[in-house]
Amino acid sequence: MPPTPKPGILEVSLYVGGRAAVPGVAKPIKLSSNESPIGPSPKAMAALRSAAHDLQLYPDGSTRMLREAIGEVHGLDPDRIVAGGEGSGPILTMLANAYLQPGDEAVLSRHAFLVYEIITRANSAVPVIVPERDTNSGIKIDVDAMLAAVTPKTRIVYIANPNNPTGSYLTRDEMNRLHAGLPKDVLLIIDAAYAEYVTAPDYEPGVELVKANDNVVMTRTFSKMYGLAGLRLGWVYAPAAICDVLNRIRGPFNTSTLQQIAGAAAVRDQELVARGRDHNSRWLAWVTTELRKTGLRVDDSAANFVLIHFPAGGDKTAAKADAFLSKNGVILRGVASYGLPDCLRMTIGTEEENRLAVSLIQQFMAA
Ligand SMILES: *Cc1c(COP(=O)(O)O)cnc(C)c1O
Repeated sequence: MPPTPKPGILEVSLYVGGRAAVPGVAKPIKLSSNESPIGPSPKAMAALRSAAHDLQLYPDGSTRMLREAIGEVHGLDPDRIVAGGEGSGPILTMLANAYLQPGDEAVLSRHAFLVYEIITRANSAVPVIVPERDTNSGIKIDVDAMLAAVTPKTRIVYIANPNNPTGSYLTRDEMNRLHAGLPKDVLLIIDAAYAEYVTAPDYEPGVELVKANDNVVMTRTFSKMYGLAGLRLGWVYAPAAICDVLNRIRGPFNTSTLQQIAGAAAVRDQELVARGRDHNSRWLAWVTTELRKTGLRVDDSAANFVLIHFPAGGDKTAAKADAFLSKNGVILRGVASYGLPDCLRMTIGTEEENRLAVSLIQQFMAA
């Protein structure tokens, strides 16, 4: 008998990221992975170049400089931050590894980030998938249904806020209500990968809940607003006891010298974040309005992408739109694997990219 993985692992569907290439198209426009159209801070790039010395030395295993920079900018205690190389994904994985045992349940919403189901199954635990609500503004996590799905076996509730790929968000009050309804021994994971984009005054990324409770964590990433998806860096703000657990099980040098130095410079450049947010707000509104004029349903989004609904049959389906756009050099993201077979997700790009993508969708709908 060959080696057998833990139960659940072979039930994991392979994660397929946004496409980056189209056969026959030299330089396609990639609006499929919610990457930044602005790119990283020049200060982060300069720091990265300066850090390319001394790589014969191990990095600071405690990632102190980066945690202090994050703490300073966000007003958080650096001792309650754990950083992670390879992005925020592995931090979510560590949390699942630490808190899920075989047969435990983890609650997630129907159109949640695919990683939550993967890391749950990888721990031989059971993903409990909760339908979302279709509202006037879009598809939204149903707080009451999430709470109703909690059983004595529940150990984790995952929420992406805002959620990918729907773009909707839970307000501060809704998140507080969700937390208030959870047993104290259930871990609420708030994945705030898109927090930097949100301008709604009733949004709170999770800092308040983590500060006041023992069973909430907030994960963040440098992959989206900071334009450093290729650097692979994320962090979590968590109660002291959970930081202690993560520090015991993480790799001793789980962030590189380059990540630490570039990440610290990036987080200190909040001017770039403000510029990125302004760009996104302007073009998110424009793309949403222009696409709606074609008659397509486009959901409200608080993040840096929009979810576009196409007719389920006929010659204007999401698959046909995807093929037409690809052929013309623009790659959006099919989201069938998220339970949304009739939708495409479009990342907000540069002005030029947005204008081209919208005009192609207009052509496709008019043809
Ligand atoms: C993009 C994204 C992340 C970030 O992943 P990294 O591993 O940090 O690149 C996390 N959560 C959600 C919901 C995302 O869409």
